[in-house]
Amino acid sequence: MREVRTRFAPSPTGYLHVGGARTALFSWAYARRHGGKFVLRIEDTDLERSTQASVDAILDGMRWLGLDWDEGPFFQMKRLARYKEAGEQLVAAGHAYYDYMPKEDLDALRARQLARGEKPRYDRAIGQKYRGQGPAPLRFKTPQEGHVGWSDLVKGPISFPNAELDDLVLLRADGVPTYNFGVVVDDLDMRITHVIRGDDHVNNTPRQIHIFQALGGTLPAFAHVPMILGADGERLSKRHGATSVMEYQEQGVLPEALVNYLARLGWSHGDAEIFSTSEFTEWFDLGHVSRSAAQFNPEKLAWLNQQYLKSAADSRLAELVRKELAKRGTRADAGPPLEAVVALLKDRSSSIVQLADEATLFYGEPHVERIALEPPVKEALVAVKAALAQSDWSRSRINDVVKHVVKTHALKMPQLAMPLRRIVTGREQTPSIDAVLELLGREAVLARLARALDAAG
Ligand code: GLU
Repeated sequence: MREVRTRFAPSPTGYLHVGGARTALFSWAYARRHGGKFVLRIEDTDLERSTQASVDAILDGMRWLGLDWDEGPFFQMKRLARYKEAGEQLVAAGHAYYDYMPKEDLDALRARQLARGEKPRYDRAIGQKYRGQGPAPLRFKTPQEGHVGWSDLVKGPISFPNAELDDLVLLRADGVPTYNFGVVVDDLDMRITHVIRGDDHVNNTPRQIHIFQALGGTLPAFAHVPMILGADGERLSKRHGATSVMEYQEQGVLPEALVNYLARLGWSHGDAEIFSTSEFTEWFDLGHVSRSAAQFNPEKLAWLNQQYLKSAADSRLAELVRKELAKRGTRADAGPPLEAVVALLKDRSSSIVQLADEATLFYGEPHVERIALEPPVKEALVAVKAALAQSDWSRSRINDVVKHVVKTHALKMPQLAMPLRRIVTGREQTPSIDAVLELLGREAVLARLARALDAAG
């Protein structure tokens, strides 16, 4: 058996999109599942749109998701000599020719075709009448009869009539390969066995198969993965919310939650919803990739993230929350240990950002609006304060104090607990108040109570 070799071949013209990340994830998982190799190749031949910042963003996104590559990154612009050599091999074998038709004549040909209501396409018979010298585009001699097809590992058998394909440009006059040529030369040289990519490339595959064959290479298997749609059935775009992988990091999603989410976008394993990355690489197969488009559902991602937050180690979450707090200028050292805060809050949060929002109540002074207190409530709070000053400092003792005061002041629990919560935390909702008070510590609780009671006059 040949070693399985897959690749991810992004064009560095933007950030790592969730759609690209999902394709990368499937390619990576396929290599891992089969003990093969995963190759990273940067397709940077679009000189106007490719940037180093985008290369960095793509690599950062992949690293964050844990999609480690075994070879590369290879850059196509560093391989121009190789494409030239492959082009010459095709010329020598009669599979390609230099095109000397001047641009104006090509434009005129297109205009005539359009005027006749035809699809514009290169006309080899006309093109080959031109003779010339010096740099010129290299075109592929596409077979004009018959069909070209393959058995797609996701979509099943696909076939195209060759008559639909014209003589595409392989190399531009400046020596830069077109997408279809660069891909084939690279997939051959990198000994790729499985091309797993978005189904927006289905129409390119017949052309690539011809080029593979003309170069005398073994065809890889192809698997075209359906695209990702937004809730409205349109292709996923910024309109639907964040589409950049790193934006999800900023929003406080854990990478393993995003991996789990992306894995389930268009692939399934029975009814498994929550699974580890290692389970995924054990289970992943192309046979269970759905043939139809997948729909991106932000609520489901938030739900999954919540599940991962619940089971994440407190020390790890504390570090992530610490960074998030630092971004806001909040230091988490003067107050209870962040690990304990995170342990108390994590079951209630669906992102690191939300966890950090809640954690701020333990650090610095809460912003407490002046609240009007009915005299009996105020008296009860004064009593709570006095009792807390004396009581043992544990969650159950604090609970006893509050219950006792409720009883002796003939109140209902919420009549005391609500204002107490608001005074001490500045919020309407928190985890159980006794747990919050315990963690906040006696000194901070008494100080906050004293200030609020003074202000309430
Ligand atoms: N650079 C192409 C893209 O980003 C790669 C397609 C392929 O995997 O062949 O769409």
